[in-house]
Order: sequence, then structure tokens, then C-alpha cells
Amino acid sequence: MEIQFLGTSAGQPTKFRNTSAIALKMLNEFNEVWLFDVGEATQHQILKSDIRSRKVTKVFLSHLHGDHVFGLPGFLASRNFQGSENDEGGVPTDLKIYAPRAVKDFVNAALRMGYAKLDYKLHFVELHPGVIFENDKMKVTAFEMNHNLPTFGFRIEEKNGEGELQIDELLKLGVKPGPILGQIKSGAVVTLDDGTRINGKDFVLKRDGRIITYIPDTKFTPNILEAAKNADLLIHEATYDASEAKIAKKHNHSTNIQAAQNAKDADAKELVLTHLSARYMGKSASEMLREQAAEIFPNVSVARDFTEISIPQKKAHK
Ligand SMILES: [Zn+2]
Repeated sequence: MEIQFLGTSAGQPTKFRNTSAIALKMLNEFNEVWLFDVGEATQHQILKSDIRSRKVTKVFLSHLHGDHVFGLPGFLASRNFQGSENDEGGVPTDLKIYAPRAVKDFVNAALRMGYAKLDYKLHFVELHPGVIFENDKMKVTAFEMNHNLPTFGFRIEEKNGEGELQIDELLKLGVKPGPILGQIKSGAVVTLDDGTRINGKDFVLKRDGRIITYIPDTKFTPNILEAAKNADLLIHEATYDASEAKIAKKHNHSTNIQAAQNAKDADAKELVLTHLSARYMGKSASEMLREQAAEIFPNVSVARDFTEISIPQKKAHK
């Protein structure tokens, strides 16, 4: 499971930062990529990465400001020519778009005016606070943010799973290697020749799922803390630095310091700042943003375009 930033600039692109887009790669887990926000030219950024558009199965849009959505029609149109999962010339799989309602009008108008016809289906899911997607592997919950138009942050949770079988302990109890281990792993209760009863559930370790939170454009709301509670990785907008707190508030944005405070208050494990104003050009500016934030929350970094962060599986436990 990896996060890759495809765009890290606020409002407008700069020479080295494109507008907002974040890819959540779950290729090892279930061979899918999810996109969070699709700023203009996201398809160009994808071309420069190792992501294949046809692997993208879901798109989540935090809000409809152009720097978060203007890349969508282009992405959808070029995805049409990427082939299907099994066949380069085939039809790409259907795509789900989770977004504030008006995005449907925007996308359909853009495609209609360009006489673009997609060979795959788009499914629009209107965002609302609460769980917006859930299956046996993942759950995504949307939280209302405090921007100047309807805006949602996302908490992406991997479901808790199973770890390894405690083979050493089983061998000590007299279990012989063989098909019986498969039965025990599946949770069955088995009885050994000497009468020892073994409940499989006691010998399979548990593995907690990973949590990633994406806080897009917003000034403070307690919802941020709820969305980011115990997150393994908190991606937080930081349009401004500490000295611009007044401007940040006026424009309904956050500073790096506020992002750090939120990470601390939510007990997040790692923080990465993104959505930087174009005024923060170059390495020294982003290092200044990081250093200020690190005084409050040390495990912080500032994303650049194409930064990739892996979120390793957690250790299994009893
Ligand atoms: Zn915005």
C-alpha cells in the first residue's frame, strides 16, 4: 500500500508542482489504484509515474474547486484508450466517482461538448458525511470540512485481517506438519491423537488494518481530528506557513502549524504536508515549512510531486 503524490500545489500549478492529485496504490493488496482529487494535467503526471490508468477503479473528489477537478475529463477520456485489465485493446473497467453532486454535470457537459464517448461506464456516488464505501477489505468514510464550498475529507481504513499461524507453538503441543495446519489456520477446532483439543482461532495472529486520512482544503473543524484519529498516515493540506495564519483563515485554509497540531491531537503516526501556495518555491521554503511543523509534530515531511510513501503492514499480534 503506497501513497504517491501526483500534484502538490495549491490553486495554480508551478514549474515543479502540479495541482492536487494523490494516488493510493493497492496493487499488492487487490490490484487497484484509487485517485483522490484530479487537478488539471493529472493524466500527464500519471504518464510520468508507473501508474496505469486502467488500474484506477475509483476517484474521490474532495470538492469542486478547479485545482482539484479540472483534470477529470482528460483523465477519463485518455483512460478510454488504455485497454482493459487483461487485454490492451479491450474496454477498461467501469469507474466509480465519489464527489459532491455537481461533478456529474461538469463531467457530462465536458464529455458531451467534446463529442467524447466512453466505452466504459461511469458511476457517480454523491458524497455525504459517513461511510461512502465498504467491502470486506476496505472502508472509506467522508467527513465535512470547513472550506467555502461543500468539501469532504476522507478516512480510508483497511479492515483488520489475519496474521501468520503460530506454527512453533502448535509443534510444541504435538501437532505434526501436514494438512492439519490448514484446518487450524481456517479456524477449525481439531483434536489430536492424545486428546488435546486445539481451537484454530487461538493460534492465528491478528493484524490491524492500516489507516490513511486525507484532509483537503479546510480551516479547522473538529471533524479533522475524528477523521485522522490514530491514522498511520495523515495527508494534510498546508497552504500557508505559520506567519500567514490570518490569510489562511480568511481563505478557509490551514497552515503547516495547524496541520501539525491536528496530527498531534489526533495521535496520527506520520504527517505529510501538501497543497502548498505557489509562494513557497524551492527546497529552502519547503524545508522551512517542515521545520516549523516538526516543532509540534516531529514525524513530518513535505510532499513533492511524485513523492511516494509506503505504509507497511502492521505487525501481527495475539
Ligand atoms: Zn479549494
